[in-house]
Amino acid sequence: WKNAPPSLRLLAQMVRAYGPRVFTIYEDERVTFDANYRATAHIAAQLVEMGVGKGDRVAMAMRNLPEWPAIFFAIVGIGAIAVPLNAWWTGGEIEYAMNDSGAKILFVDGERHERLKGCYDRLPALERVVVSRARGEVEGDVVRLEALIGAPGSWQSLPDAAFPDAEIAPDDDATIFYTSGTTGNPKGALGTHRNFATNILSSGYVAARTMLRRGETPPAVPDAKVMLLVIPLFHVTACSAAMMGVVASGSTMVFMRKWDVEQAMALIEREKVQGTGGVPTIAWQLLEHPARKDYDLSSLEAIAYGGAPSAPELVRRIYEEFGALPGNGWGMTETTATVTTHSGEDYLNRPNSAGPPVATADLRIMSIEGDRELPLGEVGELWARGPMIVKGYWNKPEATAETFVDGWVRTGDLARLDEEGFLYIVDRAKDIIIRGGENIYSIEVEDVLYAHPAVTDAALVGIPHKTLGEEPAAVVHLAPGSAATEAEIQAWVRERLAGFKVPVRVHFSPTVLPRNANGKILKTELRALFEERGAA
Ligand code: ATP
Ligand code: MG
Repeated sequence: WKNAPPSLRLLAQMVRAYGPRVFTIYEDERVTFDANYRATAHIAAQLVEMGVGKGDRVAMAMRNLPEWPAIFFAIVGIGAIAVPLNAWWTGGEIEYAMNDSGAKILFVDGERHERLKGCYDRLPALERVVVSRARGEVEGDVVRLEALIGAPGSWQSLPDAAFPDAEIAPDDDATIFYTSGTTGNPKGALGTHRNFATNILSSGYVAARTMLRRGETPPAVPDAKVMLLVIPLFHVTACSAAMMGVVASGSTMVFMRKWDVEQAMALIEREKVQGTGGVPTIAWQLLEHPARKDYDLSSLEAIAYGGAPSAPELVRRIYEEFGALPGNGWGMTETTATVTTHSGEDYLNRPNSAGPPVATADLRIMSIEGDRELPLGEVGELWARGPMIVKGYWNKPEATAETFVDGWVRTGDLARLDEEGFLYIVDRAKDIIIRGGENIYSIEVEDVLYAHPAVTDAALVGIPHKTLGEEPAAVVHLAPGSAATEAEIQAWVRERLAGFKVPVRVHFSPTVLPRNANGKILKTELRALFEERGAA
């Protein structure tokens, strides 16, 4: 294993320690660490046979399925670059990412195979498609994963296979994860083995810190837990932060093919799930579900999330109504997930904060121009540095030069730090609303909207105004059975914030607000609900 990348070396060590423990659960399929490792080694050997070598890109377009981790570790383990593609994407977006990354092998699940097979011909670099769980016959030179390694239920009996040799250094390329595309076209963030493995360190450190703060003694080795993974593995948060934490601690991941709140509650009860979360909206939906009391959710110990703003209201309710520790963390695709995180009392005491940085990260708050560091407490652009920051964007030298400066990543987020180093995200630079010269940070107003008893989902967006430039407008979704008028919502905000922050319009959405696959509200769509005001 001396040449194996850190992530795989860890997996191999864990296999020795955790071999018979269950690594993934999907419906009635249970895959042990040992079985997953066997499948990984066999897929790796097949990839080498297909001519995949160091630096070649291998894409994956599939839901969270037991084969996902095995394929992923096989790709990175032979020194190739894993390119997880958003399973929500349809033909055009996949074509863009396949051509952008130049992937020569594509792993798909049956569902995506049906959706994408019409465009395989238009991907010049593509040499081979491997499909798992295909529905019916597969045509041409498409290979079934089951023909290569069998179905997950049989992996345990795969013969021992030596993992193919590969010379891999920690700073070699390992992954291309696409950003969520919230503010523009998704960009491929080129990550290394070191970036990825850093998350193992962070998760152990954070767990220990939370326990120490509570006056408890952290265990010598991290505690194994049953986790319900409800966010997609094609996003760094699930792959690097959640999955690597699971591998490091010998924990179990329960998969869902697709997010469904009622099914999630049934799984929490059935598998005695201890931790879940991922993005704030998941926690909201669990809290708000009318049938919540019909399920035994008492096994839940922690609900942690990041990736999008979360209201202080949520923190308190998780603690009070689930008796679970709420947790929050900040990160982005460019930082291979976790940069700051906290949980428990730390978070309850600072419900607006995303926590202090992990042990290996540095943060600073810079002027928007990027020419000077701002005094403590002031709001500016967040810059982050550390071994988790990716090398840059794949194929985008200009965007790379703009965003990655002297080892720092310019995050595009507006934030401040407090004296103890806790981070407070106030808005994305692209979402800030400037009304006649006054700055309105949308998160501050959204937090107040969430605190309204009738509101369960909220967003603030800027709408154009002839003379003021922009004005704030709100989109809210009310809890079933509750009511509120525009004037009531406006009065609620006016009692709590300065007048210029009060939304000039409130749109009531009959559904929860539109989000992308990574749980981020699509503000561009919401802005289209409003018309420009102030016309002569
Ligand atoms: P794109 O860069 O393509 O527009 P994106 O920025 O949404 O998409 P990601 O890398 O998935 O893509 O998300 C990172 C962003 O998510 C951060 O820049 C920040 O705005 C937001 N975010 C992450 N964690 C938190 C958090 N704990 N609180 C508030 N916002 C967060
Ligand atoms: Mg971004």
